[in-house]
Amino acid sequence: MTALRPARFSYVLQHWAVAGIDLLFPPRCVTCGRAGRHICARCAQLVTPTPATICTRCGRVQTARVPTCVQCEDDPDFPLDLVRAAALHTAPLREWIHLLKYEGRRELAPAMARYLTATLAAQEWEPLRIRLDGVVPTPLHAERLRERGYNQAELLAQGLCRQTGLPLRTDLLTREKLTRSQVGLNAAERKANVEGAFAATSACRGLHLLLIDDVYTTGATLRACALALRHAGAARVYALTLALPDHHEPSMHHGLPHS
Ligand SMILES: [Zn+2]
Ligand SMILES: [Zn+2]
Repeated sequence: MTALRPARFSYVLQHWAVAGIDLLFPPRCVTCGRAGRHICARCAQLVTPTPATICTRCGRVQTARVPTCVQCEDDPDFPLDLVRAAALHTAPLREWIHLLKYEGRRELAPAMARYLTATLAAQEWEPLRIRLDGVVPTPLHAERLRERGYNQAELLAQGLCRQTGLPLRTDLLTREKLTRSQVGLNAAERKANVEGAFAATSACRGLHLLLIDDVYTTGATLRACALALRHAGAARVYALTLALPDHHEPSMHHGLPHS
């Protein structure tokens, strides 16, 4: 009479597990420990959106909303058509990015991607969004991908694509040069470090593409990616990152040798 119950119960558990909800070990919020989700609704509200006071050309935080900034004056060939960050690189988002990137917490990516989705829904993106051909995550070098096992930018892009229906394109851009970590480098060093590190295929020709990365530090990586896509014929290249530092980065200096 109850012979079917255990099987049925395990079926139900399995079904819920497939849906991402573990009934036996419910996920806990990585920030406050509340049971239910990896990132609870209350902590999700603590993320600080990027203020309106940015340079509208490069997206960096300024004291007022301006059409160009000091860094833009140093960079007349800026290869991106629009760059925006969803939020400031402050707690708790900063911790989540660290967990996603360095602690293997891949399961946080869909919840974090929601900030990208919300940003892309903003009015200034509307005319660009409808013409987008694909979403391109900043690629990792094959060797680093082997070490880490995944590309955090790709997980975020994947979340965004699932939430918006935009096509994910991981086939267009590759990282050819194994560069040293950008951590601890200044803006000019970062730029030199990633110069020529990326290669794009001719399948980019005529496409409108959106680059995705986790943090917009100096923009050196996004810039190098955008240049590669442009050289391969991309018609428009935009970038959207999850986080942006809320302080002014030291500006790039003139007269540095290009290597
Ligand atoms: Zn929480
Ligand atoms: Zn600027």
